[in-house]
Formats: sequence, C-alpha cells, structure tokens
Amino acid sequence: MKKITILTPMYNEQENIPHFYDQVNDVIKSLDSKYTFEFLFINDGSTDYSLEEVIKLQLLDTRVKYVDLSRNYGKEIAMLAGMDYAKGDAVIIMDSDLQHPPEVIPKMIHEWENGFHDVYGKRVTRHGEGFIKKKISNIYYRILGMLSEEPVLPNVGDFRLLDRVCVDSIVRIRESQRYTKGLYMWIGFDKKEIEFEANERFAGETKWRLKNLVTLAVDGIISNSNIPLRFSFYTGFILSFIGFSYMLYTFISALFWGNDVQGYPTIVILILLSSGFQFLFLSIIGEYVGKIFKEVKNRPVYFTKKYSDNKTKKTE
Ligand code: UDP
Ligand code: MG
Repeated sequence: MKKITILTPMYNEQENIPHFYDQVNDVIKSLDSKYTFEFLFINDGSTDYSLEEVIKLQLLDTRVKYVDLSRNYGKEIAMLAGMDYAKGDAVIIMDSDLQHPPEVIPKMIHEWENGFHDVYGKRVTRHGEGFIKKKISNIYYRILGMLSEEPVLPNVGDFRLLDRVCVDSIVRIRESQRYTKGLYMWIGFDKKEIEFEANERFAGETKWRLKNLVTLAVDGIISNSNIPLRFSFYTGFILSFIGFSYMLYTFISALFWGNDVQGYPTIVILILLSSGFQFLFLSIIGEYVGKIFKEVKNRPVYFTKKYSDNKTKKTE
C-alpha cells in the first residue's frame, strides 16, 4: 500500500490542532483501504500548547508523528524539516489553521494517481482576507513574475501534493533562506493545478507580520533572480552616459565661450541624483552580499529537538 504523509507546520496553533486532525481524518477515512497515512506535525518553536495537543493525539492515533524544532525557524524551514522526516510516497503540505480545505485531498491524490508529481492548489477566492492584502499580493506577484527567471504562479501557495521524487529533490536544496514557492517551479516535474477556496483561519491569528512579509517578498525576488543586479547596471550605465555627455558639453562650452559661475543648481542636482542612485543600488548589491554571506557559512538549516514516530509508545 502506498503511504501518504500529511505534513503541517505549526506555530502556536493550539486551538487549531484538534480540529485540523478531526477534519483531515474525516476526509481520509474514505481512502483508508487504499493508502496508509501518517500525520506529521512540525512544531516550529511554538510557545503555547500546540505540541501537547499533538502528543494527546498520539495516544489516540499511532499515525500521528511530530518533529519538534529547537526554536522558531519560520514556515519555509519548518516545511523543509517536514520533508526531511516524511516517509510517504507522496507528501501533502497543509497549513494547520484549516485555511486549506481538507476536501481537496482526494482530488489531489486522484491526480497523483494519474501520474502528476506536483498537484498544487490554486486559491480562487480568498475568504477572510482584506481587500488591501489581496491587492498588495496581486501587485507583488506581478512584480515577482516580471523579475523572476522562473515563473512563480499567482495565488498558488504551499498547499499541494508532492510525489516522492519532488520531495527528494527539494530536500537536496539546503539553502537557509528558502523561498519554497520558487523551488517548486525550479525543480520541474509534471504539475497539475487544482482550484480551491481558502477558508478563514479557524482560530488564532496569522503569524505574518508586515516585517516577515517584506522579508519573504524580498527573498522571493532576490533568491529567484539576478535581474535587480542587471537593472542597477542599466540605470548606472544610462546615468553615467548622461553625466559624461553633460561633462563634455560643459568642457567644450567653457573652452569656447568661457565660464561664468552658472550651473550651480545643475551640479547640486546631479550630485544628489547620482549619489541617491548609488545608495539605492548599493543596497541591492548589499541584499545579495548578505545572502551570500549567510549561505557561505553553510550552517545546518535547522536543529531538531525531537522526532517522535509514535511507535515506541504503542509497545508500552
Ligand atoms: N507557521 C510556522 N512557522 C512560523 C509561522 C507560521 O510553522 O513561523 C505555520 C502556521 O502555523 C500555519 C502556516 O505556517 O500552519 C501558515 O501560517 P499563517 O496561517 O500564520 O499564515 P497565512 O495563512 O496568514 O499566510
Ligand atoms: Mg493561515
């Protein structure tokens, strides 16, 4: 029998975990005769009773396993840890706040059986999300799409089924500043889209503060693309060309018509403009250098406090 891992990262989701388990369990019951399932919870340094909730579930269900990370690393790394420990022939990644409807699971499995390696969910409407967040996210995906060398699909997130070949590929990528949405595209394999309607978060609050969103957004662009560097090159080139022409003009006109102290404003404007651009582009280069610095240290991406496959408990 094929094995399927339900992988869910969790960070302070104590109210959601029992409901998540119940709802997913209800859906996969009908598939129980064909597949064996495992629930793999990744505790991403929760400070509430999320892990205790999982341990409670373990007493009821031997399929419940968990990885307890040594601290909060963020969802991207939590997912990597999950993929490292997942045993399934396929892995279904879901948020633990029930925003990803479990009813889609059978459809994903169906497409997997049809031979697709990466069956991803595409949000059609976003319930419970503000107009502004929706607009911002649309604009962001537009920009990312223009800048990325690999296309990143709009409204497609981490809710997806990955075949073992995809999981094995993704875990070989050990970047610590991960932008998994870009990685799914980068690894390739046969993809299939399934539409779903995202629910409102069941309980608790979103973990994304603006700062994290900005970080993820910048990571998404920087780790996917060298185009900002090229952009800075072009702008630098054009500006220096203009500067050089103006210099020639000043030189020649001074030579032939003499020079009274005019053009002071021009100088000030040019200095300010060019130094402004230099700062801007230095900061872009700085982003890349910072990333190189972090990657070049080649640290392990995360540390695990504990992995529990829930087998030892059974024999007790
Ligand atoms: N999450 C995590 N580590 C974090 C932040 C979030 O594992 O540092 C998990 C969280 O528990 C949830 C999923 O990632 O299962 C998505 O997070 P959230 O619902 O806060 O994001 P949103 O749905 O608002 O984008
Ligand atoms: Mg959520």
